[in-house]
Amino acid sequence: MTPSTRRDSALAATAQFRADGLGHFIAGRSVAGEGALVDVHEPATGQVLGQIRDATPGELAAAVAAASTAFPAWAAMPGERRKAILHKLADLIEARAEEIAAVECLDAGQCWRFMSKAALRGAENFRFFADRAPAAADGHALPAKDHLNFSTRQPIGPVAVITPWNTPFMLSTWKIAPALAAGCTVVHKPAEWSPYSARILVEIAHEAGLPPGVFNAVNGLGETTGKALTEHPDIKAIAFVGESKTGSAIMRQGSETLKRAHFELGGKNPVVVFEDADLERALDAAIFMIYSLNGQRCTSSSRLLVQRSIYPQFIARVAERVKALKVGDPFDPTTEVGPLIHARHLEKVSGYMPIARQDGASILAGGAPPASAGGGYFFQPTLLADAEQSMRIAQEEIFGPVLTAIAFEDEADAVAKANDTQYGLAAYVWTRDLSRGLRVSKALDAGMVWVNSDNVRHLPTPFGGMKSSGIGRDGGDWSFDFYMETKNVALAYGTHDIQRLGV
Ligand code: NAD
Repeated sequence: MTPSTRRDSALAATAQFRADGLGHFIAGRSVAGEGALVDVHEPATGQVLGQIRDATPGELAAAVAAASTAFPAWAAMPGERRKAILHKLADLIEARAEEIAAVECLDAGQCWRFMSKAALRGAENFRFFADRAPAAADGHALPAKDHLNFSTRQPIGPVAVITPWNTPFMLSTWKIAPALAAGCTVVHKPAEWSPYSARILVEIAHEAGLPPGVFNAVNGLGETTGKALTEHPDIKAIAFVGESKTGSAIMRQGSETLKRAHFELGGKNPVVVFEDADLERALDAAIFMIYSLNGQRCTSSSRLLVQRSIYPQFIARVAERVKALKVGDPFDPTTEVGPLIHARHLEKVSGYMPIARQDGASILAGGAPPASAGGGYFFQPTLLADAEQSMRIAQEEIFGPVLTAIAFEDEADAVAKANDTQYGLAAYVWTRDLSRGLRVSKALDAGMVWVNSDNVRHLPTPFGGMKSSGIGRDGGDWSFDFYMETKNVALAYGTHDIQRLGV
């Protein structure tokens, strides 16, 4: 397929959604929606692709009611049966992986070279949790002298899943797959800037045989639809991926009804390169982790900490590679960096350039939209060097193809600088000294540390952040712990004394 036929296929796949304001999917069927229209843009051209409908209070209530009604039967369904449905769902994702990937290129502006794998990863997420569904309720036997205690888990109830726009399909599957496997029902609100792949997912789920009401999707804005969903008394838990400040708002919104919350939030992740590292691999990984996904990746290596002894040579090589990155049409498989998601986000990322200059950093590559941007929201891959930890470009999540480079002296300085932000999601360490790799990993305030690697995720491992980067962990059994209540049952042997009062 050529890039333009791939784009045509994405336009065709979404034609029906774009025609007349995309509504919601409630209780197994499409609901047109009567709320306000919100534009969806194509990031690569800046043109309006279509609109979504912001859910009205009545539509939101209907989605939650559908999830509540469907909950008892879905929770009671044998895990083996849920497993079969979720595997079928994964089969259907695989069958439409190319189309889903193209849709991600269309409304999220993500590059084809990364999205073709991301759609398949979504299917893998469903298979992984499908296989674990039959044992999700298993607990522990905890015998005591007078009682046999055993624990078991049961699904918590209808849950809200609220996701961002950066890799919309894959991120949704991370949350929705374990929730469904655990026996919860779901109301999903995808990001308003990239809503189309979420609609494909909910339709596929029903084709796979998911009972109506088990998985519902509502469109709308965060401050209206998202807020109402997190405040709804029948929603028992909120799985949220997005910005840290939105996480704070959601915690407030959910507090009145005491909701359980799981937050995957922002990051300002360090990649720490010691002088003894395999510098070729470190260079490849540092560049890949910040410039892939258009720099809109929560685990991006957005701060490059390099030991001073190798800093000048290493940064010169980074600059050379950054200038050579291929920016352009996200549908072109040779493109490495596509557009940012939205004009507002482009403005935010651009706004950091005067701040960088004012604070005394140097811009060694990029620093502005490319001349060829047309109406698209492109920003050149950018390298900000000679930065200090105190600068805003070293503290704040820019969430674009912008790397901030900082020199460090020794191991203690590296750890101090790496930890000197409000965030603590991921960190990357490059050294050939295994003991140092272990010491630094232990000292870093990050939920995930990769030593001599880029972000290679093994699904059973815990994923999540410390500090302002999140609360809770995804992956393996950690996901089930969030979507399920643990219950202990104590069975007496009849051997212990019970105090007799009022005798
Ligand atoms: P965002 O917080 O603006 O929006 C995320 C979602 O929350 C959207 O669906 C939005 O409509 C909704 N929302 C906004 N306000 C809300 C409210 N008051 N109540 C309920 N819902 C509300 O985030 P974004 O700009 O879409 O995404 C980028 C952010 O996501 C970055 O900070 C990035 O680091 C983070 N992210 C984190 C991870 C992770 O795993 N830690 C993964 C991907 C992205």
